[in-house]
Amino acid sequence: MSSPAPRPVIASMPRYVPGARGEVGGPEPIKLSSNEMPFGPLESVREVIAGASAGVNRYPDMFSVDLTERIAVRLGLEPAQVVVGGGSVAVLGHILQAYCGIGDEVMFAWRSFEAYPILTQLTGASPIMIPLTGEAEHDLLSMAAAISDRTKVVMVCSPNNPTGPVISAEAFEEFMQQVPSTVLVVLDEAYGEFVRAPYVVNGLDALTRYPNLVLLRTFSKAYGLAGLRVGYAAGPEDVIAHVRTCVTPFSVNSLAQTAAIASLDAEQELLERVEQVVAERIRVHEALTAQGWTVPASEGNFVWIAARENTDAVVEAATAAERPLLVRPFAGEGVRITIGTPEENDAMLAALDGLHFRA
Ligand SMILES: *Cc1c(COP(=O)(O)O)cnc(C)c1O
Repeated sequence: MSSPAPRPVIASMPRYVPGARGEVGGPEPIKLSSNEMPFGPLESVREVIAGASAGVNRYPDMFSVDLTERIAVRLGLEPAQVVVGGGSVAVLGHILQAYCGIGDEVMFAWRSFEAYPILTQLTGASPIMIPLTGEAEHDLLSMAAAISDRTKVVMVCSPNNPTGPVISAEAFEEFMQQVPSTVLVVLDEAYGEFVRAPYVVNGLDALTRYPNLVLLRTFSKAYGLAGLRVGYAAGPEDVIAHVRTCVTPFSVNSLAQTAAIASLDAEQELLERVEQVVAERIRVHEALTAQGWTVPASEGNFVWIAARENTDAVVEAATAAERPLLVRPFAGEGVRITIGTPEENDAMLAALDGLHFRA
């Protein structure tokens, strides 16, 4: 007897395999693999989370009304232009669910965020992946040229995970001029708070010009709430209304809603931490470049070492460090390393310094 067959696309997806969890009893690894903030939550945010725990016998606010309003005020938008979800990955899933299905195409650069092809395929749509340029940047001209009658959504990521470069305002405007208004463009600004390049596209500013643009943002990175799962999309009211229809009811839990509001209250304090990460990113970039690695300019809280065929060796060197360093390898392409505390970054730089094959 066999169990019922799922949709064919589900059967064709790779099975989830639990990742390695480090050696039990060994030194605690330094986690530089998931682009998290290296600091724990602010005391004020911790207190609010602890307080909210007293009410978890109740369902959360189904539509995250207070949080949605706070985000809207912060961005200078109407609450109807913002939809909150259980992490921005979940929100992106809802966007795709609202706009595409079997026979449609979803376009994005590659390599980019790993969730893009997975979420695309889950809807039944086909991923169209356009290679990054030699500078590890989006090739927006090729992307615009590859749009077809079937293209429903184009995702662009600035700064690009895992390579780091941003999209310039000029390149984005030129791109949007070429995208038909019937195609939805999703600008993923997960790392927006870490950007210091003055020429970067400003999503909020662009929203005023394009009825087919939506922004994706998150509390997981700069705001340090990755474990609570809360993110949002901002865009035109009608687009946001369709996305809201797809949101799983009650998927943003009450602790996450309260903590996100408390984080907006403590924004200045959190942005000072972001400033420290940015300073470290600049230092790490210079140090890696001085060691001889090829590292594209990064505007996120991570750097990309284009190690190519030496990727495995970089990972081995990182893992062999006194306190093992967890980094994110992409076989044959490179390694993404999250910016940690100054001490963690020093440990990483020391581990990679001795490698002789570097370009
Ligand atoms: C980390 C990340 C996100 C955020 O994911 P959450 O679900 O909000 O934690 C979104 N997009 C990109 C490109 C990311 O790297």
